[in-house]
Parts: sequence; structure tokens; C-alpha cells
Amino acid sequence: MKLKNGAEYIESLRQIHPRIYYKGQAIEDVTRHPATAPHVRAAAMTYALAAKAQYKELATAVSHLTGRTISRFTHVHQSIEDLIKKIKLLRVLGQKTGTCFQRCVGFDGINSVYSVAYEIDAQNGTDYLERFKRWLIHIQDENKMVVGAMTDPKGDRSKGPAQQADPDQFVHVVQRRPDGVVIRGAKLHMTGAVNSHEILLMPTTALDETAKDYAIVGAIPIDAPGVTLIFGRQAGDDRRDQLERIDVGKPRFGAVGGEAVIAFEDVFIPNERIFLNGETAFTSPLVYRFAAHHRANYGACKTGLMDVLTGAVSYLAHIQGAAKGSHVKDKITEMIHLSETLYSSSVACSAEGRPTPSGAYLVDTMLANVCKQNVTRFHFEVARLAVDIAGGFIATLPSEYDLESETVGHLVKKYFSGVAGIPVRERIKIGRLIEAMTGGTAMVESMHGAGSPQAQRIMILREGKLEEKMKLAKALAGIPQKSKRKKS
Ligand code: SF4
Ligand code: FE
Repeated sequence: MKLKNGAEYIESLRQIHPRIYYKGQAIEDVTRHPATAPHVRAAAMTYALAAKAQYKELATAVSHLTGRTISRFTHVHQSIEDLIKKIKLLRVLGQKTGTCFQRCVGFDGINSVYSVAYEIDAQNGTDYLERFKRWLIHIQDENKMVVGAMTDPKGDRSKGPAQQADPDQFVHVVQRRPDGVVIRGAKLHMTGAVNSHEILLMPTTALDETAKDYAIVGAIPIDAPGVTLIFGRQAGDDRRDQLERIDVGKPRFGAVGGEAVIAFEDVFIPNERIFLNGETAFTSPLVYRFAAHHRANYGACKTGLMDVLTGAVSYLAHIQGAAKGSHVKDKITEMIHLSETLYSSSVACSAEGRPTPSGAYLVDTMLANVCKQNVTRFHFEVARLAVDIAGGFIATLPSEYDLESETVGHLVKKYFSGVAGIPVRERIKIGRLIEAMTGGTAMVESMHGAGSPQAQRIMILREGKLEEKMKLAKALAGIPQKSKRKKS
């Protein structure tokens, strides 16, 4: 692994020069700009853990391609044990950063493309898997961060990719050359894009024969000509301009993973970096496997965040003298119960994983959808309980400027104190942490990241085996399986 720790990862980002915009201005150095630096540090934690003896087992793996030790984030799952180690790693990372550390999207993309490339080759005699392996060995050896790029803008949602008035609403091939293809379009909500080294481009939806030019999978360096990134705004992001202030709540890592638009304006992908090209029939398993892997993650990374939140309100209750209240204990118990219930669905879909024909393991897709659906409820309920316990003060806290003011500072200190002996700054800091972890963007991410709730409900119903369940009921009720309805 070339990049051995967080500092080397951060330094590597200074060596590349992607075109990034934020609030209309170019960002020259993502590692230092206040809008992006916290996200860079959160992603850097994925590198840092691999360097620590205590976490090596979780954070690294042995490449099945080279036998060399690699970051787990570049590994192709070879067993159920690999799937479970991934889940454990994500929970630890969630606990250490309290936010999205972004690197799982590329990880899930790698695993989905690998198994699908194998299946295309087996059917069509293509050589996508060999190309993909060559690229992946480079990613593993260099220890690069990959952004998995899937979600297209979609334009008019009532129309498919090939029916859009503006064909660029879905990424597509605009020119075919002997040495590769030229693509145009965009990907939205791209977690960790501004601090990745490479883009793994995938289609956003299952495609039919009319959309052959939209069926394209390939790898693109983040600073390739024609690639432009526009970093998103988030609630409270103006506070990031003052990272040293306690008002930020979680200055080191930010509130949530940074998302960006990735625009492709006539970007060339050479043949050796193309892993699917026009095989529309294989877009469905690709999208589905990616979604399942990513939905499985949420039960672990978000549990890590919920662990931090539970710790934060427990400590706040303690320093406010409320910890012994039976209703407080009950709510904290409920937070723990919800966190562990969520985590168990993440473990379950991993434990029930199976090998694909390529040998790469895939999580149980039904349980992965259930897992992510649980996130859209449990994380919100845990946040609601946290706000309930913390009280209104997390939303009405005066700023650190007031705390330090010569004229009103004494009033803030006096009226925001808690149990004797606890510095008022400590109470404010923990309040700001709770605010940062329950406010706007973090919860939106929990709801819509890895697919909005309706996406899981569609898959849950599709995989619900209702025919089989009806048979079970009929057998027990003594109804013939093939009974015909009589006309009444
Ligand atoms: Fe990883 Fe969770 Fe962030 Fe998705 S939301 S990239 S699974 S940390
Ligand atoms: Fe996400």
C-alpha cells in the first residue's frame, strides 16, 4: 500500500488538481479549504486505522489478486467473514468520526463491477474482468480513494434515459473511437468526490435496449480533462469558516460527508478503463448489487454515529444533573436498543451473504433493503430522543462570541452552567455536538443516502416471496393450493 496513513493520503490530494467549485469560487486545495477540510480528515481516518495495530485486522485485507496487504476499502469480499469485517470496520469509523467517511461508495462499486464483469465475460467472451483487475490492482497497490458515481440528474422522471429532451440528463456515450469512448452528462450527490483520486462510473438504473449508449461503466481520474466538481451547500456550513470555534460542534470531521456534482463534458475513457459498454442486460444486476452492498453499510456506519449521540446525551444528562431520572434512563435505553437492532440487520445481511459466480461475496439483498429501511426510522428516532433529553438549549445556544464577550459573557457563563465544577464551555461543546449530529443534513443523509425509503420498499416487496407465503397460509388453513374462485 503506497499511502500508509492519513497524512500520506492528505498529501496525495495536494499532488492532484481536480477542477472543484464551491459558492462560485474554485477550490485550490481541498485539504485546507474550510468547506472541504473536515471531509478530507474524515476520509483520512480510513487510512489512519489501517496503520494502527489495533484495527489492522478490520481495516486491511489480503488481496485475492496479488496476495499483498491492502486497504479493506479496495478489497473484493472473498467470504462472509470479509462482509462482517467490513460492517465492524464501518461502525468503528462511524464512532471515531461521527460522520460519513465517504470511502464505502467506491468500495461497493468495486465489488459490484467485479462480479458483473465476470458474468458479462462468461456470456459474451469479452475481457472486462481482466481490464478491471488490472485497474483494481493499481488502486489496491497505490491505496487510492475511489468515488462510486451512480446517481444521474434524471431530468423528467416520467421518461427513461433515451427519451429525455436533454440526453445529458443521464451519462451517455457521445462518441465511439477505436481507442475508447467520449462521455457526457453528470452525477449528483457524489459523496467524497472532491477528495477522491478516481471515479468509478456506473449507470444509475437498469437499462433496456433503447439505451445502449447509457450502459457504460469505466474508471476516470478525478482530474481528467472535462471533469468538473461542484461542492454542495449544507445547513450551517457558514460555521465551517470558523473551524476553531466551538459553535461548529464537530470541527474536526464536519457534520456529514461532503457531496458534489460531477459534470462530464466530453470526457474520454480509454478501452482499458471500460468495464461494461452497451451490455444493457447487465445494468440491472450491477445497480441492484451496488444498492444492496451500500444499504448493508448504513446499519453499521449510522450505528457508529448513534453510539456517539447516545454517549453525548448521556454525558450531557450527567453534567446537568439529570442522569438519574428514570425517564432519561429509559430514553437512553431505547436509543441503545434501536442502535443495536439496526446493527443486527447489518450483521444479518452480511452473515446471510453468498458467493456470486465470480467468487465475490454479495450480502443478502432482502435483508440489506430491510437494514437501510430501518435506518430511515431508527436514526431519526434516536435523534428525536437525543433532542428530547438534551432540551431546547441545543437550538438556542448563544455563540462563542457571546461567551467571550466582555459585556454579556458573564451572563452566558452564569445561565448556561450545570452541575458545579463542570466548565460551562464543556456543556456548550457537548450541546453543539448534539446539534451538529441531529440537525438537518445528517438526517437527510440517513433518509436518502443509498436510496430513498421507497427504493427499499420496492425491493422488499419484490423479494418478499408473497406467492410462497400465500402457499404456507393455504396449507395451514386447509385450502387447496390450486383452488379456483367460484363466481358468486
Ligand atoms: Fe460509508 Fe455510511 Fe458514508 Fe455511505 S453514508 S459512504 S456507507 S460512511
Ligand atoms: Fe451515503
